[in-house]
Amino acid sequence: LQTQLNQAQRMESVGRLAGGVAHDFNNMLGVILGHAELALLRADENHDLHDDLKEIQNAAQRSADITKQLLAFARKQTISPKQLDINDTVESMLNMLRRLIGEDIDLVWQPAAHVWPVKMDPTQIDQILANLCVNAMDAISGVGKLTIETGRKTFDEDYCNDHQGFIPGDYTLLAVSDNGCGMDKDTLENLFEPFFTTKEVGKGTGLGLATVYGIVRQNNGFINVYSEPGQGATFSIYLPRFVDDDPADTAVSEKKTAAGGTE
Ligand code: ADP
Repeated sequence: LQTQLNQAQRMESVGRLAGGVAHDFNNMLGVILGHAELALLRADENHDLHDDLKEIQNAAQRSADITKQLLAFARKQTISPKQLDINDTVESMLNMLRRLIGEDIDLVWQPAAHVWPVKMDPTQIDQILANLCVNAMDAISGVGKLTIETGRKTFDEDYCNDHQGFIPGDYTLLAVSDNGCGMDKDTLENLFEPFFTTKEVGKGTGLGLATVYGIVRQNNGFINVYSEPGQGATFSIYLPRFVDDDPADTAVSEKKTAAGGTE
């Protein structure tokens, strides 16, 4: 639990720091980009100076892209949690995810027949899935398979004694697995750290999994990662079962279940 708390505090201070720096940085980059553009207009296209200015412009543009990601990470998004059926939420994302990962990767969707409702902002599920799928795509790099699965799991006292920080209860599972390059021990130990990346400069920011971690913890959920080098990876996300105390809402969801036939 201590590790999880430390991680949450670190995420928050990194977020605040990153937000402040990114904001000022973005303004400076605007000045650099603007002047590079003006100078480019005046420089003769055949002169060496033109290429140098172009380099400055490209690097400033890349920096601006990274700052934008930082700002998105740091910004406390206003969230509107609502009761969700995770299968419906994933299904509404499938077309977008297929386009994102391309035709070389086979996307397999394995919804469980029974899932418990969760209460969270659906755009947070979108963010989790997009980040995990981009990572899977990078890990596969070529032809491969990506599986999205749902399910339900009850953590009892024994499980929580063995898994530090987990809290007993009913959870809805959302798992993303790939048959990509997998991870070594060092990567597994650091992958949720903000800015930890093994990707080349300009490709990874190291903020994807830190963001996923932040969202899951904000919703009192947990993450398990299973991976070995060369054996692919599985990210299992457990979100707490939402129990609706308002009988009016329960009636609506039961009616929906009967009509939709998902039970
Ligand atoms: P980024 O993708 O920008 O590097 P992330 O926080 O999303 O940042 O991921 C951190 C690191 O975790 C990656 O650089 C990579 O080494 C590792 N990683 C994440 N997902 C996977 C995966 N599915 N397979 C192998 N390695 C992964």
